[in-house]
Amino acid sequence: MQAPHPGCLDCGRDFDIEVWYGTGYMKERPDVADRYCKYCRQARGREAADKQRWKAIELIGSVCVCCGEAMMDFLEIDHIDGYKEGPRSGQALVRYVLAGHEKEFQVLCRNCNWAKFNRGSCPHGGV
Ligand SMILES: [Zn+2]
Ligand SMILES: [Zn+2]
Ligand SMILES: [Zn+2]
Repeated sequence: MQAPHPGCLDCGRDFDIEVWYGTGYMKERPDVADRYCKYCRQARGREAADKQRWKAIELIGSVCVCCGEAMMDFLEIDHIDGYKEGPRSGQALVRYVLAGHEKEFQVLCRNCNWAKFNRGSCPHGGV
């Protein structure tokens, strides 16, 4: 007899293969199934990704170099001299910055980044 799955350690939800993995996959293996349900795993993944992103942004400068925006949700990592090599965006870019490439980047908020990208400069005058 296998011990029954204890359910999600985070939210307490009972083990349910459809919630954990969708249909089919891993159906017979509650013994090796993750201890967290799909929703909690996703939330943890997002949290971890956010933390890494914030770490990278802090390393580069924490605020938009153009307008001084400091709300993390508005901030983006911008290639100072335009994109040349390495990852373009997302977690790959965050890892690239954290690997010692922070000097190649600046922090811009979404507005300023958009303006730089679409008009070549920002009306604020900072980039
Ligand atoms: Zn859960
Ligand atoms: Zn800005
Ligand atoms: Zn600006």
